[in-house]
Amino acid sequence: MPKFDLKTIIFMSMLLTFMLSMLLAITRKHHKEVGGPGYWAVGNLVVGLGMVLVLIQLDTPKVLFLPGLALIGAGLSLYLNGIQAFIGKKPDHRIPVVLFFLLVAIDVFFVILQHDLRIATALGALVFAGIYLVSARLTFSRDEGIVGSLFWVASSLFLLMALFMLGRAFATVKADAAVFTSFATWPINAYTFMLGAVSQFFISSLFVLLLSYRLNQNLESIATIDSLTGILNRRGLEDSAFKMQGVCKRINLSMAVLVIDVDHFKKVNDKHGHLFGDDVLKGLAKTIAEILRSGDVLGRYGGEEFFVFLPNTNEKDAANLAERIRMGVEKTLHTVNHKIIKGTVSIGVADSVRAGYDFKGLVAAADSALYVAKNSGRNRVVSYTNITRDSKLDTRFADVL
Ligand code: GH3
Ligand code: MG
Ligand code: MG
Repeated sequence: MPKFDLKTIIFMSMLLTFMLSMLLAITRKHHKEVGGPGYWAVGNLVVGLGMVLVLIQLDTPKVLFLPGLALIGAGLSLYLNGIQAFIGKKPDHRIPVVLFFLLVAIDVFFVILQHDLRIATALGALVFAGIYLVSARLTFSRDEGIVGSLFWVASSLFLLMALFMLGRAFATVKADAAVFTSFATWPINAYTFMLGAVSQFFISSLFVLLLSYRLNQNLESIATIDSLTGILNRRGLEDSAFKMQGVCKRINLSMAVLVIDVDHFKKVNDKHGHLFGDDVLKGLAKTIAEILRSGDVLGRYGGEEFFVFLPNTNEKDAANLAERIRMGVEKTLHTVNHKIIKGTVSIGVADSVRAGYDFKGLVAAADSALYVAKNSGRNRVVSYTNITRDSKLDTRFADVL
């Protein structure tokens, strides 16, 4: 085994840790919306400070040396808090505090009072193994795609570090008593710091990659989500309909579309103002979403027009669902200036059996049915089949189709 100089390794690790901390702090400053980097920045800073304390006392391990190691443990557990924040869990701030005092207590009791460096080192290694094991568990993910892969690598690294720490604890128990006269010359210490620093660098880089991927995802959702209602916008709808069409076509399932348009919405705006109109649109999106099943795709195509794409659904079932939506909207009350008002919608329905799978063809068919619904009194559901079966309507709406 090559012999490493512990001082140089700790010094290098310390510089690396401070640099990573700075990198993560900058990321945190510019992207407060993603949880994690703040904890990782502070975690690295705390680990770095711990290394400073260890370094300046390395030749004469005295009082500062012990809180130094405890700080490194607390810093690593801040990593854990960062992972919790990143995956949307509430970070448990007690973990770093408890670990810091646990490590200090182990050292005070076994090193200062009992003068038993062997037990202190073994217990310390077990605590670090615990931190790495919990981190490995938290980053263990079955997700597919790049996030899943990056998490898988992080989890494996944490697990390796946990195993190494268990090995360190074992080696400590087995080691010769002479080893414990000097921390600096025991080779396992150099390996521990070196592996710790390399894995930390690797994991911090993984976190930066995860972060950039998460930011990309956020951008993508900004591009496909309607900011007023929180449902899909035109682009999101087109993307989802395209995917649904591909799947349904391949396994020969029908798909249906509902085109929903608010009745006399211009009057609502004119009478009660645009802000109230916006609230009505938000409420409408919520009412429709509550009636749909998972797998159905709802979006706002524009203005006061909503589309719903339904996989594995024929026109008859889609019309039944549309009727439930129509009634649901009719029942929903909106309050403006202490007055209660009601709104209604007209819905056009079409399916791929009659209109084909193509987005444009399906929507045009449902649109023509909507046109009939509007012209025959509004607040109703009309299916494409019904208008095309009726020869009189057929010629009347030929130009619309
Ligand atoms: P119809 O029953 O024939 O559908 O009548 P309508 O008044 O709903 O039809 P029209 O398409 O002429 O009017 C749509 C109105 O929707 C016009 C516009 O002021 C309003 N609108 C479109 N987008 C928004 C929005 O984001 N917020 C608000 N408040 N109003 C909107
Ligand atoms: Mg309208
Ligand atoms: Mg309209």
